[in-house]
Amino acid sequence: MTKKYTGKCLCGKVTYVVIGPPIVVAQCHCNKCRRLSGTGHTVGAMFTSDAVTISGKLNEFSYLSDKNSQVTKAFCATCGSPIYGKSTRTPGHLTLTLGTMDDACGLEVEVVIFEREKPHWDQLGQDAVSFATQPDWKPGG
Ligand SMILES: [Zn+2]
Ligand SMILES: [Zn+2]
Repeated sequence: MTKKYTGKCLCGKVTYVVIGPPIVVAQCHCNKCRRLSGTGHTVGAMFTSDAVTISGKLNEFSYLSDKNSQVTKAFCATCGSPIYGKSTRTPGHLTLTLGTMDDACGLEVEVVIFEREKPHWDQLGQDAVSFATQPDWKPGG
């Protein structure tokens, strides 16, 4: 089923529109994604590049993967939000970060990769306390 998804970065200067559905939605725990995101994983939705229209200024960073493909990550040039990744292993495709999507309605994580690199803290422990919003708490308070 064809569906249109929209998204934007934290500051709003980079926006995108993509015609779906995605080819796959994957959660990646590799060390590179950990540092990229500042958390324990990224979640990305892969589309063909021609399904994606992006506007706004992006900066890019490229590195070689373990499989010797060149991976390029693109960020908002102003706020640094990760917008997409692409790899020479899958030319003609982009993987958009799911967290930048306005409404990822109907999308679910289908595969988890680099599970062996998942940090132990990237899950909720049984004793974690949840608040619906930011609680009224300060250090030492
Ligand atoms: Zn931005
Ligand atoms: Zn990764």
